Amino acid sequence: MILIVDDNPNNLFSLKKLLESKDFDVDTADSGEQALGKALKNNYALIILDVQMPEMDGFEVAEALSGYSKTKDIPIIFLSAVNTEKKFITKGYASGGKDYVTKPVDPEILMLKVKTFYNLQEKNLEMKKTQQNLELEVKGRRESQVTMKSQIEQFHLMLESLPQIAFTLNEDGVIDFVNGKWYQYSNSEKVFPETHPDDYVIQEEFERCKKKSKPLDLEIRIKNTESGDFRYHLLRVTPVFEDNILKKWVGTFTDIDAQKRIEKEKDEFLSIASHELKTPLTSIKAYIQLLDRKLKLSETTAEAGFMVKVHDQIEKLNTLITDLLDVSKIENGKLKINKKPINLEKLIQNTIENILQTNDNKVKIERHGIIPDILIPLDDIRVEQVLINFLTNAIKYSPENNQIIVTTFVDEEEQEVKVSVTDFGIGIPDYKQEAVFQKFYRVEESSLQFQGMGIGLYICSEIIKQHHGTIGVSSILDEGSTFYFTLPLN
Ligand code: ADP
Repeated sequence: MILIVDDNPNNLFSLKKLLESKDFDVDTADSGEQALGKALKNNYALIILDVQMPEMDGFEVAEALSGYSKTKDIPIIFLSAVNTEKKFITKGYASGGKDYVTKPVDPEILMLKVKTFYNLQEKNLEMKKTQQNLELEVKGRRESQVTMKSQIEQFHLMLESLPQIAFTLNEDGVIDFVNGKWYQYSNSEKVFPETHPDDYVIQEEFERCKKKSKPLDLEIRIKNTESGDFRYHLLRVTPVFEDNILKKWVGTFTDIDAQKRIEKEKDEFLSIASHELKTPLTSIKAYIQLLDRKLKLSETTAEAGFMVKVHDQIEKLNTLITDLLDVSKIENGKLKINKKPINLEKLIQNTIENILQTNDNKVKIERHGIIPDILIPLDDIRVEQVLINFLTNAIKYSPENNQIIVTTFVDEEEQEVKVSVTDFGIGIPDYKQEAVFQKFYRVEESSLQFQGMGIGLYICSEIIKQHHGTIGVSSILDEGSTFYFTLPLN
């Protein structure tokens, strides 16, 4: 808005009309005092100020306006009929005015000046607003930086109080914080602790996970800087995302040395016990066979029935001990796989026949899918062991249903074959399905009702792993389960 100040109502009227004809918003004041009051209250983009006014003249008004921060930057155009001399014009400029127009006013010249000043002032105001917004933004940023800093400090304090070694890495994977315990295993906050020569190198493993933005989970031995001893630690490094963007990594080393030692002792005990049990069992088996042959019992006698039961129990014991021996072989990295080209379909057929025979044909096994009548490099004894395990489990955990489906599928694109065994038995709860492949894991709900040691599937998963295949299960509680494995075609 433009303010026109003049004590002459005719001048005020004609100037107002002129400006309004050019679409300007106009306000008027008929004295210096009124002009001051209005300027302090409203926002004007320009003031056109008459110099000759009674009481407070134009120069005095301009001087007064320049004293207030609200009004000091409003451009002023002085209008004067009398003071056309140079010294008055100079005074006009000195008292804060921006231009000087002498009366009689040439409307065209005045309009040109008004337009220029008006636009300039509008731009000034816009710039001021932008500046204010910028200042606000800078202030906001500074404040959030301060809160973030204090949050980070709090987070570091928390990491400091953990019983584990804790550290963080920035988005580029560079270590940017370590807690005090770090220095028990590393001399530098930039370098990961040294690992045992037989274990993985942390930096290399981390680089691998960094590329995929995936968490790192490792059991490794790291060297204590003071004693030089290696202790087993569980290393976990987890990526932290914000709006799907990786922001940093948080890592911990948890000391699991005592746990590992106990586990090792248990494994050693199992290994010795199973070896020691195997020798007398082999003798018992041989003597029973001898006895069987010598006695030549007639099939109808009770003794012949007892002999069959003895054979069955010896076979069960044998399977248990062989499984325990397999576990200790896995622990010692001695589970050997001897691959040769094998017709998978024949292997499946033979296994199914064996299972049907040993179960007196009480189960029904259907074959579905694409028949893999192809040669695949595999260890036939071990893969048969996996299949037997799947099938005996399917029978064992389906007390109310004797139907089993064996499905095969050759995936040319993935270059693999998939074998699955489906039963309609008790099923496994969702959250326990992954765990069934762990050593000695048994689903609580069924462990009392069904005998077992919880190592069969663990051995299966190791056998399949060594074949570079995958193993898994999908199951619905009280409806049934499908266990599957895949093997690469080449
Ligand atoms: P075991 O049968 O000797 O306990 P496994 O390693 O073969 O050991 O199986 C581990 C666990 O997985 C079993 O204890 C059982 O709880 C569960 N499980 C395996 N197969 C099935 C199945 N077909 N249906 C339901 N549960 C199963």
